[in-house]
Amino acid sequence: MSKKTNTYEKIRTSLKREAVIAYSPIIRIYLLFIAAYYILVTSNHFSSESGWGLVGFASLSIFSSIAAILLSNSFKDNTSFTKLEIVGAIGNTLLLINLQYYYMLSYDSDRLVYYILMVIITSISSVSRRLGVASCILTLACMFITIQRYEPSLLQTYVYIGAASAIAALGVSALFRKTIFNVLDAKLYAANQKEIAVAAAEKATHLAITDSLTRLPNRRNFFDLLAQHSSHPPKKGRWAVLMIDLDGFKPVNDGYGHQVGDKLLVAVAERLKKELPGTASLARIGGDEFAALIAITSGDEMASAGQRICDVMKTPFNVDRVVVHVGASVGVASQTSVDMPLQDVLENADFALFRAKRKSKGQCAVFTPSDAGKMKRTFQIDQALRRCDLEEELTVVYQPQFNIIEKRVTGYESLARWKSSELGDVSPGEFIAVAESSGMITQVTQVLLKKALKDFQDWPFDISLSFNLSMHDILNHKAVDDILEIARRSGISPNRICFEITESVVMGDVAKATQALRRLTDAGHEIALDDFGTGYSNFEYLHRLPVQKIKIDRSFVRNVAARERSSQIIATMISLVRSLNKECIIEGVETEAEFAAVQLLGASNVQGYYCGRPMSAENVMLLEAEIVEMHKAMSG
Ligand code: C2E
Ligand code: CA
Ligand code: CA
Repeated sequence: MSKKTNTYEKIRTSLKREAVIAYSPIIRIYLLFIAAYYILVTSNHFSSESGWGLVGFASLSIFSSIAAILLSNSFKDNTSFTKLEIVGAIGNTLLLINLQYYYMLSYDSDRLVYYILMVIITSISSVSRRLGVASCILTLACMFITIQRYEPSLLQTYVYIGAASAIAALGVSALFRKTIFNVLDAKLYAANQKEIAVAAAEKATHLAITDSLTRLPNRRNFFDLLAQHSSHPPKKGRWAVLMIDLDGFKPVNDGYGHQVGDKLLVAVAERLKKELPGTASLARIGGDEFAALIAITSGDEMASAGQRICDVMKTPFNVDRVVVHVGASVGVASQTSVDMPLQDVLENADFALFRAKRKSKGQCAVFTPSDAGKMKRTFQIDQALRRCDLEEELTVVYQPQFNIIEKRVTGYESLARWKSSELGDVSPGEFIAVAESSGMITQVTQVLLKKALKDFQDWPFDISLSFNLSMHDILNHKAVDDILEIARRSGISPNRICFEITESVVMGDVAKATQALRRLTDAGHEIALDDFGTGYSNFEYLHRLPVQKIKIDRSFVRNVAARERSSQIIATMISLVRSLNKECIIEGVETEAEFAAVQLLGASNVQGYYCGRPMSAENVMLLEAEIVEMHKAMSG
């Protein structure tokens, strides 16, 4: 209600202001006309009057013209409406006094028409209706008094003439005013609409560049900010970009619900704001990703800013009476020269973050010159991979998996190889990671799987094939569909095909990974959890996951023969996996000593250079043929 009243008041005030602007020149011209008229009348008095008559008439007309000139200069466009009314009223009164004075000294019935003229002029020049009506009444009253005094016989006639002319004049002036006010109204309406449109556009822009949850600038806004600051160095030092990624946000979001997740993000934003220098620009650029632009004077300042953020994030959050533990990994990079584009600095910080997350979570990594070399290599690999003919350049090799109890090779793990026409041999460790981040991995996987299954078709029936899948392969529903379809079309019994997936991928999104793995096992395939022991090693999840095999990472085998501790770890893992009724494979067995050691610890399946290096499909065929021959000889 009060808002409505306020708007109404605002419009009324603006309308009055506009009316003053419209009427000011009219009143000014009216007054100048009065002034000009009385200057003329004054000179006329000098030729037609003399003695006291001249003195009286001349002084009154001179006074009137001076007063009119002064009045015309007494207001500006921003004067009040009431003042304009008063000025108009004084102008009308001046005219009337002159007229009345004239009739007092020399009555002439022929000149009664001046009263009628005055009724018309004063009505039309009136700013408001009340001023018009008051001027008419006053003028007619003066006219009637004059007629009554000098020639009463004319009174009746002039009552009619006066009334008719007053009605006509007031009608015309009302029409005139209405037209002016209508125009002003339309103008104000248009201005008001424009104001509303501008406000709406501003609001829309604000929403488009602000993260609605944390009220921080969003990704788009942050990129714009970087572009703007690229050409403006800070007052002191140079710009640095911090990329902040929360560790363990997803489990909180999945476990406690999105409401807690949202509140946690708001609390994180608040904590970050407090921790960063006041001049920093903080933004939320992804689900659980934040970025900040800060000015620094040294590399140490940048590293300590990043480390401080990691440290403060270690303190648990209290959200909705739930104590939530998350952490943050931070990547930082700064300009190497004042004109270095901040977009490049951001890419460097992103690369440092990638390293920070790979190293161990909750750490800050600073972008180094050696990172620049790695980034260049990544870029080259990405370009070459996009340009190459995958069918032509990708090949598959196979590494035997040996069963100690059965004393025979029970399967082969397929391993990708890429002989790039541009870069030569590129290791899978390098190009698989690049294909994963560029999204090309699904294509790469399909080409490799088709090739591996084609080779595998001719191998003995008691041999299985293990094939590595990436995160994107299993977190994408369509990709899983395609993998299942390729396997189905090969006609190979699904239980002979085992898919390997690393522990860290599964732990990254347990729910989604479990769902995808279940689709694969439901189709009859086996699953092996790869590189076990390198990531979260969450034993709690292990029994719930639809996996049949666990591959213990090769890092545990190093020095197993010499070190008591390595042996203990392996023994514990073997017994744990066995207690869960799953098969265990020890990876990376390189030497005879290692083989003997793991055998002693109870291992039943091993893979590693000792049992066989990755080999071509032809060599697998040769090896298998040899084995058959050997069996024949032994049984013969
Ligand atoms: P991974 O799945 O753990 O594969 C085993 C890696 O360890 C292979 O390296 C293999 O050559 C190596 N290896 C085997 N025995 C030994 C040993 O005794 N000592 C040592 N030091 N190394 C051994 P590779 O072929 O370079 O593959 C590296 C990684 O690349 C693989 O690790 C896997 O994560 C990935 N990868 C390879 N092929 C594929 C593929 O087709 N698809 C996907 N998504 N990833 C693949
Ligand atoms: Ca593997
Ligand atoms: Ca492995």
